[in-house]
Amino acid sequence: MTPPARGPATSTTTTSPTVAVAVAVRKSIPQHAPVPRSLSTRTLPFAAAAAAAAVLALPAPAQARPGPEPSSAAAPAPCVSGEGPESRTRNNSVDEGEIRWSDGTVYDDARAFAVSAEGWSYRGARIAILPDTAVTSDDLAFVDYNGGTSANAPLGSYQWRPAFGATDRVRFNRQKLNARPYDTRDFRRFVALHEIGHALGLCHKATTVVSLMWKAAPSTPVTWVPDTDKANYRTLWGSQ
Ligand SMILES: [Zn+2]
Repeated sequence: MTPPARGPATSTTTTSPTVAVAVAVRKSIPQHAPVPRSLSTRTLPFAAAAAAAAVLALPAPAQARPGPEPSSAAAPAPCVSGEGPESRTRNNSVDEGEIRWSDGTVYDDARAFAVSAEGWSYRGARIAILPDTAVTSDDLAFVDYNGGTSANAPLGSYQWRPAFGATDRVRFNRQKLNARPYDTRDFRRFVALHEIGHALGLCHKATTVVSLMWKAAPSTPVTWVPDTDKANYRTLWGSQ
């Protein structure tokens, strides 16, 4: 199965074992670009969304707790042009209602925060996000890599690997996450949340909505699951 195109491939994809794999993976890797220098000159919707994000950040809990399904007043948002639609069978790491993950990253705080985020980790959640064990299959590996330091190098990436037995990956670009301005707890948590969003099947969203899933990182990292993303999750997987 060939992953769908995910927009223009970038030149920052790392080398893969074979040409065929490289092409497939390249197309399936949604990547971050850091905030462009022209950010302050962006259009009003972007500024409005950023302002809303800053407000919404205030009541966000520092750590997710088990609880009832969170409420969401927002409608689901469409994928950006060239992506989607969101699908239960493509571009996600869900296997029989679970994502079993393994830990190969040094960014443990970000990983732990993302897998237990209140927006998709709650009592009765449709998709369980749990550590891999000896008797489960490893659906998603958290790993670190050197993804470059250039202005358009990704902060992290998600690799959907649909081949039978292949483990999908959330990859943290240590060259970015160990350098300013991304070497903070909150930026690392944001990157982890965004990539888990992909693992749950979410595509990139326009900056006209408050979402974890903007293609480029916001200037203020989003460290919770916004209502729009909860709505997309529910639309894709059901609420209970
Ligand atoms: Zn992405």
